[in-house]
Amino acid sequence: AKRIFSGVQPTGVITLGNYIGAIKQFPELQDQGDAIYCIVDQHAITIQQDPKELRSNIRSLAAMYIAVGIDPEKSILFIQSEVPAHAQAGWMLQCVTSIGELERMTQFKDKSAKAAGTNETVLAALLTYPPLMAGDILLYNTDIVPVGDDQKQHIELTRDIAERFNKRYKKTFKIPDIALSKAGRRIKSLQDPTKKMSKSDANAKATIRLLDTPKQIEKKIKSAVTDSEGIVRYDKENKPGVSNLIDIEAALTNSSTEDVVAKYDGKGYGDFKAGVAQVVIDHLAPIQARYNELIDSEELDRILDEGAEKANAIANATIQRMEDAMGLGRGS
Ligand code: ATP
Ligand code: MG
Repeated sequence: AKRIFSGVQPTGVITLGNYIGAIKQFPELQDQGDAIYCIVDQHAITIQQDPKELRSNIRSLAAMYIAVGIDPEKSILFIQSEVPAHAQAGWMLQCVTSIGELERMTQFKDKSAKAAGTNETVLAALLTYPPLMAGDILLYNTDIVPVGDDQKQHIELTRDIAERFNKRYKKTFKIPDIALSKAGRRIKSLQDPTKKMSKSDANAKATIRLLDTPKQIEKKIKSAVTDSEGIVRYDKENKPGVSNLIDIEAALTNSSTEDVVAKYDGKGYGDFKAGVAQVVIDHLAPIQARYNELIDSEELDRILDEGAEKANAIANATIQRMEDAMGLGRGS
């Protein structure tokens, strides 16, 4: 079976972008291979986090993974910091990565510019986190990484790092492939449809979160930035706002953008937005119900304990091979 690995940062309630771009695929993939899903809390602290909030975001994300359909009988679900091998691997892989490669990452450029703009310190870890992410993936002999296309560059770097390590030391890693979702590769901000929708966006109106109430969803979609043409048609270049809403409806209903456009033929933006909002509300209702059952349950802790145990066993074996390849310690 193919090994599948993916992670999400606990930096806030997940957005429709995270869901459509990555997480919606997770339950389908767990039937096609050996799936491992991670809550990457060590990545979250590359931007300053409030400790209390981080804790609660971690638990919330765990419940959300299960609520969208991750089955702990089929998949491993765990928290990154509960598997120390990730930090160990991240360090070793930093030692086969150049500063130039890290400075080229657009995520680093975007996030460091944003931090600088708000007078926040740009932390060293914001630069060096791609090797940690490479470790996340490589520790599990991963074949396939289902992520949104904003992560493409990081996956390419992961492949480079793995190949370099294999060549410089000893063949240790499998070279992973990226799996992009067909529908809605990149969902855009509702307020600035030239930017991607981001969990950590400070503007609440820019994102739809999986725990938003029907009222909030309606309001946010109603105030989504569109254009003055007044015709519902798909044109990413000239109508990024309208096209983004079409992408959202198409992805959630597993239909084509043409089907969505046809549905709103002859309708104005008012009807269009109300229709898209209804699709989102209906899609999220059962997810939210399951989430509410889980969030304070002991079941959730049991799942995470078991996940950490299984992940530790796999990851520690890889660390041993990495240390042996590099000549660290005294060997086993
Ligand atoms: P942050 O702003 O904290 O980086 P994020 O919204 O980018 O949050 P991540 O935890 O970094 O979320 O990414 C989780 C998954 O969601 C990744 O697979 C990523 O590629 C995907 N993803 C993130 N934003 C989008 C988007 N706008 N459209 C499609 N996929 C996305
Ligand atoms: Mg991100």
